Amino acid sequence: MKPWTAPQQAQPWVSALTRWATNSPVAATGLALVLVALVATLDHATGYELRFAMLYLIPIALATWAGGLRAGVAIVVLSSFFWLVSFGSSHPYSGDFFFYWEGVVMVVVYIAFVLLLARLRVALTRADERFVRVLEELHAAVYVADQDSGRILYANRSLARMIDAEPGALSADELGKRFGLGEANAGSTPGEDKESSTAQIVAREVRDPISGRWYLVQVVPIPWKSSRRVSVQVITDISEKKRAKALKQQHQDMLHQTARLAALAEIASSLAHEVNQPLMAIASYNDACLRMLAAPGIEKKELVTALKRSREQALRAGKIISRVRDFIRSRRPSPTHFDINALIRESLELLETQLEDNAVTAELSLSEAPLMTHADRTLLLQVIVNLLQNAIDAMEETEPSCRQLEVSSTEAADGAIVVSVSDQGVGIPEEIAVRLYTPLFTTKSHGLGLGLSICRSVVEAHGGRIWHSADPVSGCTFHFTLPPEID
Ligand code: ADP
Repeated sequence: MKPWTAPQQAQPWVSALTRWATNSPVAATGLALVLVALVATLDHATGYELRFAMLYLIPIALATWAGGLRAGVAIVVLSSFFWLVSFGSSHPYSGDFFFYWEGVVMVVVYIAFVLLLARLRVALTRADERFVRVLEELHAAVYVADQDSGRILYANRSLARMIDAEPGALSADELGKRFGLGEANAGSTPGEDKESSTAQIVAREVRDPISGRWYLVQVVPIPWKSSRRVSVQVITDISEKKRAKALKQQHQDMLHQTARLAALAEIASSLAHEVNQPLMAIASYNDACLRMLAAPGIEKKELVTALKRSREQALRAGKIISRVRDFIRSRRPSPTHFDINALIRESLELLETQLEDNAVTAELSLSEAPLMTHADRTLLLQVIVNLLQNAIDAMEETEPSCRQLEVSSTEAADGAIVVSVSDQGVGIPEEIAVRLYTPLFTTKSHGLGLGLSICRSVVEAHGGRIWHSADPVSGCTFHFTLPPEID
């Protein structure tokens, strides 16, 4: 595929002639021949006194530029031949030596001119080819757009592959819209995409709405002839990089979950081991009591002793359980003053990859003024992240274009802070709603069923309340409250 360049507009006549000579070597060499005949005729007609022979340089230059070294030398030979044959019989020199000397000097000058011009042409062509080759071999799509007329002045092959069409089929404006360049050119910073800019380069990450792939788009204004406003756009496919980042995040999540599961399993097994002993003892004492009651003469003293021991074992089991509970609760909240709106934004940033992967758009409807609270920031971050994660999971089956999540924060009339997380997911049927906050209750294959019970413990420990309501259309909304300042 050849690089695409826009049809050129009118140029000064020298560059137009040069382009014509380069593009039509046969016609240019033909014209050079005609010019040689014209110069020879003029020279002959003026009796060689006006020295028209210098004008042979014009057809020689034309032929060299159009056809290269050989064509140039051929025109030199032809011009010299005309000059020698027609001027030889009538030259005014005192001897033939001087006539031939002039001829030799003239040929040497012509040949030197041809050699220089041919070398210049080759050097220019090679420099051009090297430059175009580099651009053509780039994996990134590169194109040059005239910002005033909206024309594409140059586009490499990768652009055609990227848009799956000839670059000429789209205008710079259309390409700009597709790759979000309109804003990039203007240097604005739209909320969804990451954009960075130095004084010269504007760069941003955008998702192509047609192919769904992610691109890094860089726009660099460059100087161009006739002081036009021209910019180079470099579009690099970063979908794989994004995917690798998402995979890494997934691995981290899995590691996290595995670590939590391992810790849970360890606590559960040591609890089972410790509680098993007193339970077995209680069962044995109960068996002994039953046997004594079944025997004809009841030994009251022995029966009381067995019952006392059974009671002691039951108390021991209770102590083990409360010890484990104390251990779990030993992390005391460490409250600080902070703005809940900032925490909501931070939670969304943490889940950025999951939101992107699941094509979920998040909308924020936060109170304009900061909502200050005095609470354990880490625990509340966990609460908001859990609610957001549940909302994302709930929309797995939702039509991608409807996967919308909304987080809002307001101040209630009594001064309490109310945070709500709404989704367009499956919603919560009655039979699930009654068990929602029960520890270890989950409907997910990868779930632990601890999220909502932890949320409730944290919110209630801060003096707040958590509940959910069904959405009028689909999905549901989780709300929690926090007193404005807890000391
Ligand atoms: P997990 O997320 O590990 O399952 P949770 O305690 O966070 O544990 O959630 C318990 C269950 O509550 C989930 O398995 C799910 O069935 C239900 N649930 C929670 N949030 C939502 C929601 N936004 N929409 C629908 N169901 C939900």
